[in-house]
Amino acid sequence: MMRSSTKTKMSTRRRAPAGGILCAIAATFAGTAAGCQPPPSTNEHACSGAQAISVANLTGASLPPKTLALTFDDGPGARTSELSTYLRNQGIFVGFFVNGKMIHDNAILAQIIADGHVIGNHTQTHASLTGHATGSRHLDDAATVSELAQTDVLIAPFVTADRFMFRAPYGDFDAASAAAINASSMSKYAGPIYWNIGNNMGPHQAADWDCWSAGNDGVVLTTKRCGDLYLEEIDNVGRGVVLMHDPYFIGANPANGGTVDMVQYIVPILRARGYSFVRIDEVPEIAAVLPALPAPPAPTTSPTPGTSGGAIRAVGTGGGMHHGWATGNTGAGDATPAHGAVAPTTDPGAAAGGEPVGTPSASGGKPDPCASSPQPNAAK
Ligand SMILES: [Zn+2]
Repeated sequence: MMRSSTKTKMSTRRRAPAGGILCAIAATFAGTAAGCQPPPSTNEHACSGAQAISVANLTGASLPPKTLALTFDDGPGARTSELSTYLRNQGIFVGFFVNGKMIHDNAILAQIIADGHVIGNHTQTHASLTGHATGSRHLDDAATVSELAQTDVLIAPFVTADRFMFRAPYGDFDAASAAAINASSMSKYAGPIYWNIGNNMGPHQAADWDCWSAGNDGVVLTTKRCGDLYLEEIDNVGRGVVLMHDPYFIGANPANGGTVDMVQYIVPILRARGYSFVRIDEVPEIAAVLPALPAPPAPTTSPTPGTSGGAIRAVGTGGGMHHGWATGNTGAGDATPAHGAVAPTTDPGAAAGGEPVGTPSASGGKPDPCASSPQPNAAK
């Protein structure tokens, strides 16, 4: 999320070539969003193994053309259940990167998993780990780890097949953040998971949370207009991880429409245009650093290449926003899911592909001091 006072809407996108297939996960894709982030100052990476620490965001750069992985941050929200059901019924399985402070009822986490989606860690309070987007101090190591650990307690029982994924608020992450996490029990997380589409507002692109609030330009968009901008950016970029936010609505009122409605507007159009969808943990460069999914019980396909654990990857020491996508087909992308999760189903149990459905956490349902304070300018 970015406060309107610090956010600058602009359409600048920079493209950088992807690295080789194996090392694509370690290539740094540098882009400057909001006109205020310096380029990453380091580009080091180790490519000796899938779990190697590197200076990289994980994106959908390796996806085949016209393949998308939808992701939803900052929830759960008032209509997340509705969104989860809609997507399940569409045969589209997504990632919800939740904030612990937003979890008031484990039932929504259970539903998300039962519907075939996955849950990731977006920290407890949505604090910027580096302070870059918020102009705040860099969190110290203990605070950084605590941000992940508090939410981990809530979501771990619901995480699919030990596929622990982390997405940094605002995309703010650096080598110090990575070092702190990797020196803790939170090193089980892979990430940071970044995105290719939905970063910011512009003449040909949109960021949903900013559509629903005035932002710097004082403009609130309709769900159709915001959706049309998403469609335009998706067509222009052609593939990748799409960033959206399920808990945000026009005027912070779920009845006014918002991301949940926009998704229901754009999905049929995307289908008609020939797009297909994979779950975020099935994006090749992300799957490569996650444990393999359990083999399906019946006709077996090759499981997703994986490892026994994840690793947090640092992005540039400059933190901030980084775009990354390949313009050519790397050949690495195999949109075939490892567990059949993209098959439409109306059976919540079947959609989970045999993956364990967690039991409610004993420590869930923590009170949220911000529960009644929507985050109109909060995103990423
Ligand atoms: Zn966020």
